[in-house]
Amino acid sequence: MVRDIVTYPDPILAAEAGEVEEVTPEIQALIDDMVETMYAKEGVGLAAPQVGRSLRIITVDPSGPSARDALTVLINPRITCTEGEQESEERCLSVVDATCTFKRAQKITVEGLNKNGDPVTLEFEDFPAIVFQHEIDHLHGVLIIDHVSRLKRALYDKKVRKRLKRA
Ligand SMILES: [Zn+2]
Repeated sequence: MVRDIVTYPDPILAAEAGEVEEVTPEIQALIDDMVETMYAKEGVGLAAPQVGRSLRIITVDPSGPSARDALTVLINPRITCTEGEQESEERCLSVVDATCTFKRAQKITVEGLNKNGDPVTLEFEDFPAIVFQHEIDHLHGVLIIDHVSRLKRALYDKKVRKRLKRA
């Protein structure tokens, strides 16, 4: 089932997401919905808070919605090692009409559980590393607008307030 995307300034996007204690059928159903939603919205990644569930789950497919051949699901992911630096220009389904440019690590090591609840350690570099860092940020209540200057952030907040007033 395709779920609705929660957008900024919804407070769930600013909250620290909770650890998944057990990979139950309900959690697996949520993961299936997240993957379906990610592809339907033409995203390359999604975090559970973006569909209104404050849980540490991410789905990532840097190959995009047309290829769909590089899907990774991670539960309770944790970045254990970072290396280097790269410039990143990012958008987010939850941060409407914003593009933010800032620095991310070039290479990361991530530990977590796969969809079956088995522990995995994965390494990513370049664009896939960016997507994982972006989605793991969501689990800590961090959005792309938290990575830019206070002035840019203030301008974006003003734009959002205007849009909410119109709605
Ligand atoms: Zn995002």
